[in-house]
Amino acid sequence: MDPSRSLKLIVACICLLGLLACEKKYSGTVNVSSHTWLKGKKIFVDPGHGGTASRDGFRAGPGGLTEEEVNLDVCLQLGKLLEAAGATVKLSRVKDVDIPLPQRVAAAQEFAPDLLVSVHHNGTMRRMDGVNYPCVLIWGSREVSPASFDFASLLLGEFHRIMDERGSVLSDFSVFPETGSMMLRETHNLCPGVIGEGGYFSDERHARHLRDPQYRTHEAEAYYKAVAEYFRRGIPRARAQIDCRVANTGFLQNELQSRTPAITLLLESGYPGVDIDDSTLRVTLDNIPIAASRLRSGKYSVNYGRRLYPGAHRIRFSFSNTRGQSSMIYSLPFHVPVTTGEHDALVQEGTRLVSYYYTAHEGLKMLLAALSMTVTAPDADTLLWRIAQGFTLIGEPAAARYYYSKIFYFYPQSQYHATLRGTAYDHRYPVEYLGRELPFTEECGSCPAARTEREIPVGDPTTGDAEQEKSYLPLEKAKSFLRAFREWISFK
Ligand SMILES: [Zn+2]
Repeated sequence: MDPSRSLKLIVACICLLGLLACEKKYSGTVNVSSHTWLKGKKIFVDPGHGGTASRDGFRAGPGGLTEEEVNLDVCLQLGKLLEAAGATVKLSRVKDVDIPLPQRVAAAQEFAPDLLVSVHHNGTMRRMDGVNYPCVLIWGSREVSPASFDFASLLLGEFHRIMDERGSVLSDFSVFPETGSMMLRETHNLCPGVIGEGGYFSDERHARHLRDPQYRTHEAEAYYKAVAEYFRRGIPRARAQIDCRVANTGFLQNELQSRTPAITLLLESGYPGVDIDDSTLRVTLDNIPIAASRLRSGKYSVNYGRRLYPGAHRIRFSFSNTRGQSSMIYSLPFHVPVTTGEHDALVQEGTRLVSYYYTAHEGLKMLLAALSMTVTAPDADTLLWRIAQGFTLIGEPAAARYYYSKIFYFYPQSQYHATLRGTAYDHRYPVEYLGRELPFTEECGSCPAARTEREIPVGDPTTGDAEQEKSYLPLEKAKSFLRAFREWISFK
């Protein structure tokens, strides 16, 4: 071989070895280049605590190991892995400093990530008992944070691969009973997010792991693998179209200029070639379940009935893709302007319709619309009472309980308060979950099934409600009477 050529080869080898030596910080086994779908994804990584070792004896384990130092090291390694895969990462801290929670929340909100991961380790009062297990916290519950639950389950699975002990996914309300954790509470409508607790630094045996740089690398990889798998399954997203003008000039949000607009949901699976699982689409209007028609894959028309009643409303929906990945809960708040006398007409007609099985849906829509205009009125509790009974009639007992609880807690001077005391409705404070609000995109004229403008006054017999009631079977009438009677008896 030409001597100058072999010299070049030797120099190249030395350079390569040098490069490898510089990169020795990461000694794991993850092949980040194969996770191409992470390219461009935004991930907020929050190393819990920091800068408080001198005054925070609780977050220190055997041998002086602190939670904050482990959290930081795991996050720095996780950040490197994610960046190597092409993701954009924002860390809430990169050194041992005390960043207040509101600042971390603000940083996350400004970054607008696709996923938020807060990295912690647990301590316990039962230090002597050798308590150790992983857990992953989500905001609220699986029902209100389905997307966070999906990611939390994947992360818990990865913790189980590196730890001998079994753990679980939990609501952060299990730890912070009234509000949940600040980090997740203030970001839960931003993106899916979790707090990972990778075992107990207070446990002698696990503290040995957490002191071992190799173990910390394993833990960073566990987070990374969960993130990579989560994005591989796709993060479903949604938009909403409407075929009428939506004004946003006054105090009230999204004033619809039509009472019969075509509202279309545009759903994305979050991964090319993956579909929406139609059977998982759930839509409600003011907590009343309503249907949606599939126009084509990913495009659905909201079937709210013949028209929208005046008042403030909220459509909520969620769905999954065919890889079983849940969307966040989305919500479309809007209002329909009210004219003279409409409130009273809605109360009158709604009260009539809500007591019959076949018209209860429409009656509920009317009463909820009326209630939305005057929640502080002296007779608001009566409306709530009828609404709760209507939900019982249509087979939505959870919604009924929610409205009974509302009377009990929010209207302490209500005539129904004493009746509800001591029942199942007085021990659960009714919390409203609003979901991630979406703006309406005005698509005048381009929406399929666009309806022509028609104003139908409340209670107009030509709307068909009256005919529907006439054809109402006597047997159903008897059944609904019995149901209402049983309900009445249960309060006595
Ligand atoms: Zn912590």
